[in-house]
Amino acid sequence: MSEPARRTSVPPLIVTQDNSFWFDGVREGRLLIQRCTGCGTLRQPPGPACPSCRSFGWDTLESSRRATLHSYTVVHRPQDSAFTYPLAIGLADLEEGIRLVADITGVDPADLVIGMPLEVAFTEHAHGEVLPQLRPREESA
Ligand code: ZN
Repeated sequence: MSEPARRTSVPPLIVTQDNSFWFDGVREGRLLIQRCTGCGTLRQPPGPACPSCRSFGWDTLESSRRATLHSYTVVHRPQDSAFTYPLAIGLADLEEGIRLVADITGVDPADLVIGMPLEVAFTEHAHGEVLPQLRPREESA
């Protein structure tokens, strides 16, 4: 007997002193991007040093959360109880010029189109983890 797929939890989050600002941000509904104070390069995911100039100095920029779909995959198996299947996972181009990987909600995977406008939203999982999700964005003037 099989149970319907339910969102119960996500795999354990690895929070470190290098990425805790990012998790704090998503809990507040903000997508923060790490920016090198040496050369201005943006980086995602967060890391301790700039890949361009090796500086350890950084601050953050709050993303507009506007994005377009760069690529995606649809996962059917293996299934984890933390997710609903088929699970669409997108690689999105954020307006700021860097990319974000997140699951896609609010659209049938068969209707996904490369280049479609997306926005970053946030969803809270059963144990309080908050993570970004991509969803279709209505294009506004
Ligand atoms: Zn740099």
